[in-house]
Amino acid sequence: MKFNKKLQSMRTYEAGKPIELVVREFGIEPKDIIKLASNENPYGCSLKVQEAVKDIVANMALYPDDSMIKLKDALSSRFEVENKNIIIGSGSDQVIEFLMHAKADENSKILINSVTFAMYEIYARHVGSEIIRTSSQKHDLDEFYMLYKKENPDIIFLCTPNNPTGDALDVNKIFEFLDKIDGETLVVVDGAYMEYAAFKDGSKSLNPKELIQKYENVIYLGTFSKAYGLGGMRVGYGLADEKIIKELYKLRPPFNITTLSLEAASVALSDEEFVNNSIALNFKEMKRYEDFAKKKKIDIIESYTNFITLCLNNNQNSTQLSNSLLQKGMIVRDLSSYGMNAIRVTVGTNEQNSRFFELASEFI
Ligand SMILES: *Cc1c(COP(=O)(O)O)cnc(C)c1O
Repeated sequence: MKFNKKLQSMRTYEAGKPIELVVREFGIEPKDIIKLASNENPYGCSLKVQEAVKDIVANMALYPDDSMIKLKDALSSRFEVENKNIIIGSGSDQVIEFLMHAKADENSKILINSVTFAMYEIYARHVGSEIIRTSSQKHDLDEFYMLYKKENPDIIFLCTPNNPTGDALDVNKIFEFLDKIDGETLVVVDGAYMEYAAFKDGSKSLNPKELIQKYENVIYLGTFSKAYGLGGMRVGYGLADEKIIKELYKLRPPFNITTLSLEAASVALSDEEFVNNSIALNFKEMKRYEDFAKKKKIDIIESYTNFITLCLNNNQNSTQLSNSLLQKGMIVRDLSSYGMNAIRVTVGTNEQNSRFFELASEFI
């Protein structure tokens, strides 16, 4: 059977290996498996959220509120934007998919960083667009600008902090860059880890309101999957000028967010204490990874997120290391498919991290 030609050269996206598969493949008990591969919040989610969703469970016959008014109100007061500036997706992933279909086709070019979130390329391929990558591994906005002038892309993705490297852009540099981009080019600023960056360094802390008030061609993406600890709920959002949001809405399937997820995300926004505590603990634990790397003489990339990228030396191999860890029930992310001899480790709880250092020390 023949399928869509655009899919021929594509591979399936492999998310961090699920615990369930490690149980099957290696016969390890679920309680002995530690997953530090998908940048989830190791402290779970707010207790308020857990309480709130209990009431919903008793009443699931009705379709969700498709206006999403409660979550939109919560997001609009959090970010001081209007409801018409918000679109909610099944993860911010889905918002990326919408905007690819809204703006790009076979004749389009998409400009991305050399090493960045894999879904930009995957969705670009769905619509047959050409991918232009920078050569620099860190977001180099001068190079972005040079390629923008040369290639005239339809969409530019800035991922700050960037996944899987963890580095973040200075906000004033982002604004300087955006000042030079014409209104026909859509710029996506993916802030999946912005809560972490904002906590660590004010100069990296982007205010989406400022962004979308100033630029009609920019969309900001956020998610509940990372700092809010709701990866299993699949909720993300895009904030942009009304004209962009209106186009994205044409692509949105009805009821794309479940009742449970809408409630969880709305309540999660009200518990800032939970998020702040998780982030404070994250950076406290991150310090241990920095010390570990120093002791083992391996390089790290300074991280503004809840993960850290360990760049291995030539005599070490990231695929071998991650496979060995996997056999012991420790799931991390091998970055060899990104062309890096490195692993990305989500910063876990104190106990999880200790276990990582113990296991990794057998190989490094
Ligand atoms: C995790 C992540 C997302 C989106 O996650 P969702 O779970 O789909 O909301 C988007 N961008 C980056 C860079 C991420 O790391």
